[in-house]
Amino acid sequence: MIKNLINGKWVESKETFETVNPATGEVLAEVAHATPEQVAAACQAAKNAFPAWANMAVAKRSKIIEKLGDLIADNVNELSALETADTGLPLYQTRNALIPRASSNFYFFAEKAKQMNGHTYPMDDQMLNYTLYQPTGVCALISPWNVPFMTGTWKTAPALALGNTAVMKQSELSPLTTDFLAKLALEAGIPAGVFNVVHGFGSTTGNALITDPNVNAISFTGGTSTGKHIIANAGLKKFSMELGGKSPVMIFDDCDYERALDAAVFGIFSINGERCTAGSRIFVQEGIYDRFCEEFAARANKITVGDPMNMDTKVGSLISQGHWDKVTGYIKIGIEEGATLIAGGPEKPLSELPDHLKGGHFVRPTVFRDVTNNMRIAREEIFGPVAVLIPFKDEADVVSMANDNDYGLASYLWTQDVGKVHRIARSVEAGMMFVNSQNVRDLRTPFGGVKGSGTGREGGDYSFEVFCEPKNVCISM
Ligand code: NAD
Repeated sequence: MIKNLINGKWVESKETFETVNPATGEVLAEVAHATPEQVAAACQAAKNAFPAWANMAVAKRSKIIEKLGDLIADNVNELSALETADTGLPLYQTRNALIPRASSNFYFFAEKAKQMNGHTYPMDDQMLNYTLYQPTGVCALISPWNVPFMTGTWKTAPALALGNTAVMKQSELSPLTTDFLAKLALEAGIPAGVFNVVHGFGSTTGNALITDPNVNAISFTGGTSTGKHIIANAGLKKFSMELGGKSPVMIFDDCDYERALDAAVFGIFSINGERCTAGSRIFVQEGIYDRFCEEFAARANKITVGDPMNMDTKVGSLISQGHWDKVTGYIKIGIEEGATLIAGGPEKPLSELPDHLKGGHFVRPTVFRDVTNNMRIAREEIFGPVAVLIPFKDEADVVSMANDNDYGLASYLWTQDVGKVHRIARSVEAGMMFVNSQNVRDLRTPFGGVKGSGTGREGGDYSFEVFCEPKNVCISM
């Protein structure tokens, strides 16, 4: 059984639930379903462990954090196979990118913690103010299933490196690599109570965690409606909310066409399209629209869908039957709304699948053209391999459509005109813009969104917002 880790001990729960390989239907493990009392015990353990961990010499704490990074690096093959089995994500991505990135998260924040500085504010020769950045306390770390290990470690690494203690709740659909992380954390020497893991559903375990009075901060990644629920119910705590997206890709006819085409295909179909920063609204300027649609659909048709464990597979299984119903439901909505389906569709690619995958939740890379920005497929987060191609006239037209959406996470721009780059970068309502580039992460930069995509930023010094409290010390001279 996958157990909770509470105060350095493995704890079973009376109730359990199953975690299933979405590609094959195989039950991978029974998982302890943490009760509210167990969540409270984990939060209390984190509170008790906080003073010693927060006051440990930074060099010593960072060494332990680095060791955890090393242990992840040593176990990339096992972790990536587990992550792929638990989520349906293609192994080529978990092994080559998503799991290795988790090690970098620990190395990066181990170093960042050592370099932490406050500010000084002298008031003439009378007074001196200086700021101390101190850890926030007990942090609830809540993660979704789409890239669970990477997202979970993106929270754990800064939280622990900066001197906080934590209680993590991974998605009930993808608990396996978080369980592995908990084992590696003990092996790295993280003291009892500093890192706790509780497993369970949002409405039970999650709810107990966000309302626990010992929790000082919540770093949440997940859906926008869950984020709103947490803000409304958690009480007075610090929040970082990394929520949904419907990120625009703006492709002008003066772009480097082949690179833009490659990036747009990768941007929506990688990670099964189950990606918060997916370029899921693709705006293409009128002069190149027809050619782009044709070539985009041809690329989509060539993408290998199938066994996530096969290194050649580019799109694996969606996470669950419920999510498959949602994604294929949107494909049917797109057809009803009058968009033109030019690749894929709502049917499972059964003839392409071997028998053991016939029950998996596969969706063919799907492409719609003649989409308008007011259609539901252009407005709502589908979170699957479904691309919508929308024509635009000029700069004003595309900026207005890009901003006419409830979300504001990432945005992507393809043009050779440097003036246009600066104007659009200022005008688009999004937390991030990538120009002539795929979504490339530099861990020093702020990650997060505006509008329905959330509040707060994580990454580099921006992680201090949630994981540290700046204290001002004012001294008379
Ligand atoms: P979700 O909101 O359903 O669940 C996310 C996590 O919250 C899970 O662990 C879940 O158990 C927990 N949860 C649910 N209800 C809760 C409650 N009442 N109290 C406490 N915890 C609760 O989201 P999901 O379906 O797992 O993930 C998909 C969503 O995540 C998409 O909208 C996607 O865009 C978003 N996402 C955002 C980012 C980002 O960085 N902005 C990254 C990845 C995914």
